[in-house]
Amino acid sequence: MKGALSARNLRRYYTLRQRGSLFSTSKTLKAVDGLSFEVAPGEMFGIVGESGSGKSTTARLLLGQIPPTSGEVWFGGDKVGSVPDASWRRMRKRMQMIYQDPLSALDPRIAIAGQIEEPLIVHFPDFTPSDRRRRVAQVMADVGLLSHHGDRYPHELSGGQRQRVIIARALAMEPELLVCDEPVSALDVSVQAQVLNVFADIRERTGFTGVFISHDLKVIRQVADRVGVMYLGRIVEMGPPDEVFHRPAHPYTKALVSAVPRTGRSARSRIILAGEPPNPVNVPSGCPFHTRCPEARSGCRSLVPELVASGGRAVACHLVNNPSFSGGEAA
Ligand code: SF4
Repeated sequence: MKGALSARNLRRYYTLRQRGSLFSTSKTLKAVDGLSFEVAPGEMFGIVGESGSGKSTTARLLLGQIPPTSGEVWFGGDKVGSVPDASWRRMRKRMQMIYQDPLSALDPRIAIAGQIEEPLIVHFPDFTPSDRRRRVAQVMADVGLLSHHGDRYPHELSGGQRQRVIIARALAMEPELLVCDEPVSALDVSVQAQVLNVFADIRERTGFTGVFISHDLKVIRQVADRVGVMYLGRIVEMGPPDEVFHRPAHPYTKALVSAVPRTGRSARSRIILAGEPPNPVNVPSGCPFHTRCPEARSGCRSLVPELVASGGRAVACHLVNNPSFSGGEAA
C-alpha cells in the first residue's frame, strides 16, 4: 500500500473580475505559486502556515479535485488528473481526504455504519453485503469506535467520535495516499491527542503515504516526518520538524516558532510581525515576505529567493542562502 507523491512546480491562479460602472477589470489571485516537493512512500509530509497561505488549495490540487493552472502532481507513477474516467475512478479510490469539519462531511440522515459502507458500494462492486459489513466493522474497530456506534446518527456522537467516523470511512477504501486538511483543529486538546494516536497506529500498520495540513506547529511536530512551511502560496522552508522548529532558518518560520507558548520562553522573545499577510491578489514583488520581514534588505524587494536545499533542509531566503547577500541596507 505504498506510493510516492510528487508536486512539480504547481500553480493555481484564479481570475477575479470586478465590474465597474464603465469598465470591468480583472485581477489574478495566486493561491498556490510554484510549489514543488516530494513525499516518499510511507512518509508523512506536514504543511504548516497561516490561514490564506494556500494549504487547503494545495490539498485539493494533490487529490486532483481542482486542476492546476500549471505544474503536475504524480502519485505512484501516475499523473493525477490526466487519466480517463474509469482509470481515474480507480486512482481516486487510492487517494482519500480527511476534512476539518466532520459534521458537514457526514449526512445527518444516515446512520454511521451506512455512511462508512456507502463508498464501498461504489468503489468495490465485487464486494458482497457481508464483505462490506466485515470491512465496516474492521475499520470502526481500527479507529476505536464500538459496534453500537454504527447505529447512531452524526448528531448523537461527540466531535472526536465524528472525526473517527471520517477517518474510518477513508480507511475503508484502503488508501495509499491520505491527505488530511486540519483534521483535528476543531477538537479539544485531549480529543486531538486520541485522534492523533489513531493516525499513528494506523499509519504504522498500513504504511500509507500522507500529507497532513495544520496551522498548529505542535500537531505537525507530532505527526510529520518532514514539514514544509507555506507563506503566500509558496514553501519558504522545508525539513525534519525537530530541526525546522528547533533551529528555524527562515525569518517567517522564526516568527511562527516564537509565537508557540513554551515554558521558560518570555513573552518578550516573541517576534511580532508587522501587519497581516498581504492579500494573495497583490503578492509583493521580490521576496513575498519582505513587507513583514524584520531582517529584510532593500534587495529583497526586487529579487525572488529560490528554495535552496542543503543538508536535508531547504530555505527560500537570500540572507540564509547567501550570507554575503549584498542586497543593500536593512529595509
Ligand atoms: S529574502 Fe529578505 S525579505 Fe525574504 S525572508 Fe529573507 S531576509 Fe526576509
